[in-house]
Amino acid sequence: MKKIAIIGGGVAGLSAAIYALRSGAEVTLFEQFGLGGLAATIDKIENYPSYSAVEGWKLASDMSAQAKALGLKTVRQKVLSLVKSDGGFDVVTANGQYAFPAVVVATGTSHNKLGIEGDYVGHGVSYCATCDGAFFRGRPVAVVGGGKTAVSEATYLADICSDVYVVTSRSELDAEQKATENLFAHGNVHPLYNTSVSGIVGQDGEVAAIELFADGKVDRLNVSAVFIATGAVPVTDFIRLDVEKSSRGYIVVDGRCETSVKGLFAAGDVTDGSLKQIVTACADGAKAGSFAAAYSATVK
Ligand SMILES: Cc1cc2nc3c(=O)[nH]c(=O)nc-3n(C[C@H](O)[C@H](O)[C@H](O)COP(=O)(O)OP(=O)(O)OC[C@H]3O[C@@H](n4cnc5c(N)ncnc54)[C@H](O)[C@@H]3O)c2cc1C
Repeated sequence: MKKIAIIGGGVAGLSAAIYALRSGAEVTLFEQFGLGGLAATIDKIENYPSYSAVEGWKLASDMSAQAKALGLKTVRQKVLSLVKSDGGFDVVTANGQYAFPAVVVATGTSHNKLGIEGDYVGHGVSYCATCDGAFFRGRPVAVVGGGKTAVSEATYLADICSDVYVVTSRSELDAEQKATENLFAHGNVHPLYNTSVSGIVGQDGEVAAIELFADGKVDRLNVSAVFIATGAVPVTDFIRLDVEKSSRGYIVVDGRCETSVKGLFAAGDVTDGSLKQIVTACADGAKAGSFAAAYSATVK
């Protein structure tokens, strides 16, 4: 019989569930919080095909309802470890151990935080320029970070926003020379080197300014948004298997979203795939769910 576990109930995990359930598999999805993952927290999504604009919670709850109507079983618990067993894998939570012939890992990433974001995430603090940049069209914004991601986020924002302040504690940007040149070809980009962000100042619940610490003193800079680009880490710490990962720790998958471990599939932001968006996470989920279900039927 087809039987799989999915770890992570974001859009990648839910898409995996929908495809596996429709192929006749019994699916158990482990999620530590509510279903929907990151997508459920996004105010407005404007790049998911078929919607000009949709609220994240609406997209996530429609997807969850679709999976539940197909018979999805959910276990609202954090997975503490994933280990190999005779017949496949054991998924371990605080409440027990569950055996499955095939597993899909869809646990996403955890953004490096500044620790000063408070309640401003989604109200001017963002971790994704492609997603949220358009909300700050024509307004001044800051990008925090000095690496490749910060340069690419700032370049994207420079075409949309009035001014882009790139705040980094480094003395120069650490990205490919061409990318950095391309960034500074925009006349509205202002690097602030040897500087850190020490606070966020809000007005009416939205970001209004940031506090900058440099040369032993604090200055205030008025911006409408802060894009934090200090990196994200894939959530894989619970996987006790020798699975191949990229140099940055993302799970390497093939064209079927199968990993280097037979019977273990991965989907969405946790993989080494390039564009980390809802549509690509769903596409990964479709593949991982389908092929994991098919694989599970072959396990005796
Ligand atoms: C601020 C912001 C705005 C964005 N805006 C857009 C946008 O407009 N359009 C767009 O296409 N994309 C956008 N994105 C990107 C998009 O949200 C992600 O690419 C997508 O949601 C990733 O889905 P996922 O299922 O792979 O991971 P996630 O949504 O991160 O889901 C992973 C799930 O796994 C769960 N989990 C993790 N570890 C465990 C564990 N040990 N046990 C049990 N559960 C676990 C988590 O709780 C979470 O629910 C945005 C991202 C951010 C940060």
